[in-house]
Amino acid sequence: MLNVTRRPAVRNALAAANPLCYNPVMLKQQQTIKREVSFTGTGIHTGGKVTMTWKPAPLDHGIKFARVDLNPRVTIDPLIENVGDTSRWTTIGNNGHVVHTVEHVLATFVGSGIDNVLVELDGEETPIGDGSALPYLQMVKQAGIQPQEGKREIFQPRQTIHVEVGEALAVVMPSDQLRVSCTIHYGKPGLDAQFLSLAIEPETFTSQVAPARTFAFYEDLQHLIDRGLIQGGSLENAVLIRNESILATEPLRFRDEFVRHKILDVLGDIALLGWPLAAHIVTIRPGHTSNAELTRALRRQLEKQLPTPPFTQPSVPEAVTEIAMDTMRLMNVLPHRYPFLLVDRIVEMQGDERVVGLKNVTINEPFFQGHFPGHPIMPGVLQVEAIAQVAGILMLRSSENAGKVAYFMSANNVKWRKPVRPGDQLIIEVEMKKGRSKIGKAKGVCKVGGDVVSEAEVTFSLIDA
Ligand SMILES: [Zn+2]
Repeated sequence: MLNVTRRPAVRNALAAANPLCYNPVMLKQQQTIKREVSFTGTGIHTGGKVTMTWKPAPLDHGIKFARVDLNPRVTIDPLIENVGDTSRWTTIGNNGHVVHTVEHVLATFVGSGIDNVLVELDGEETPIGDGSALPYLQMVKQAGIQPQEGKREIFQPRQTIHVEVGEALAVVMPSDQLRVSCTIHYGKPGLDAQFLSLAIEPETFTSQVAPARTFAFYEDLQHLIDRGLIQGGSLENAVLIRNESILATEPLRFRDEFVRHKILDVLGDIALLGWPLAAHIVTIRPGHTSNAELTRALRRQLEKQLPTPPFTQPSVPEAVTEIAMDTMRLMNVLPHRYPFLLVDRIVEMQGDERVVGLKNVTINEPFFQGHFPGHPIMPGVLQVEAIAQVAGILMLRSSENAGKVAYFMSANNVKWRKPVRPGDQLIIEVEMKKGRSKIGKAKGVCKVGGDVVSEAEVTFSLIDA
C-alpha cells in the first residue's frame, strides 16, 4: 500500500514526481508555532484534569499527539487508520493507548494553516475548554506562527466523492480552496434547520467557526452518562438544548451556533487525512462517524491520485526479452474480457518456459466495491486466476491452440502473504513446468514492489471453446 503519511522521503519523492496540485489560492509554505505553549483543563468525557502542551516541530513532522503520562511515552499520529471510537468524539489510538476528543484541536491547526506541531498530553483526553476552539486559538496567538522553508503539498481531489452513513451525507467537489457547506436538521421543535457555507481561511475560521461550542440534547444526556461519557460535561463547556430552550452559561454566540460547531468538527475530522485539503465539502447532518467515513473516502482518492512512489516501483525487467504484449494483443490470445481480464500487459516472455505479466490494481476494480468497502483489498483467488491467465498465454498463443479456453484442474501450494491494495502494481511471474500437450502446469508468484504477495502452482487443461 502506498504510504501517504508525512515521511519526508515519501513526500519529497511524491512532490518531485508529480505534485498533487498547483494551488494558487492556499498557503504554499509549511508552518509550525514559534514557541511552546500550554493549556490545562478538564476532559469533557473522562472528566480528568489534563495539561496540553504544544511544541514547535520540524518540516514534514505533521501533527502528532504524545501521551507523556505513560512510561515510555506513546506517540500517536492523528491519521484515519488510527481512529477508534467516533460515536460522540473522535478517538485516536495506537496499541491500546488512546487520545480522545482530538477534533477541536485538529480543526484549529487546519483553520490556522499550521502543519507541524507536537501535542503533548498528560492524560487520555484533550482539555475541552469552553467546548469551542477559542482556547486553542488563544494558544496559537500566544505561541505565534512560524513559516518554514518547505513546500506545503496540498491534496486536491479531481473527482466527486460521495459518502452516506445513516442520515448523514457528504459530497466532495473539486475546488481550489477548502470550503465547507453544512446543513443540520434534527426535526426537533424550536430548532430550525441551519445552513452555512464558508471558505476556510484563518480569518473566517477565527471569526465564524472557532467560537461555536459543543452542544447536546437534554434527552441524550442519560444515555451518555450511562455509557460513562460526559463526566466532565457542564454548562461551562457545552450548550444544552432542552425542548425549546437553550441552557448555557452565556447566550448563543451565533444564531446558528450549532451548524458552525458542526463545521468545526468536520474540519477536525478531515485533518485525519494527514494532508492539507483543497475541496468543497457539502455535508448534511454530519457526525464524527460520517466524517471519518468521508476522510477514508478522501484517503482512497488520494491514493488513487498519487503517482507510484519510486521506492515501491516493482522490478519490471529492463530488457524486455523476445516479446512484449499489450492489452489489445493479449485479448487476441486470451478469451477473458473486463472485468475478468486480470493482466494488463505481458512484459517478458522467454521461450515456452517463462512469462511475466503486469496488472495495475486501481480503486476502480469492480471487486473493491464489496471487498471491502472502507478497507479495499484484492481477493487472493483473483491473484491465482491472474497466474493462470498469464500461464495460459504461453499455451494459447501457439496456432494449434488458438481459440481454446483454459479450465482449471487444480491449484496447489497456494499462499497469500501480503494484502494487495488499490495503487499496487502486480507483477505476475510464471514458470511453466512440463505438461502434456493439452495440460499445462505452472508455478506462479505475484509480487508488489519486489515483495511476494501470493504464490500458487496451477494445472489447467485446454478445451475447445
Ligand atoms: Zn465538536
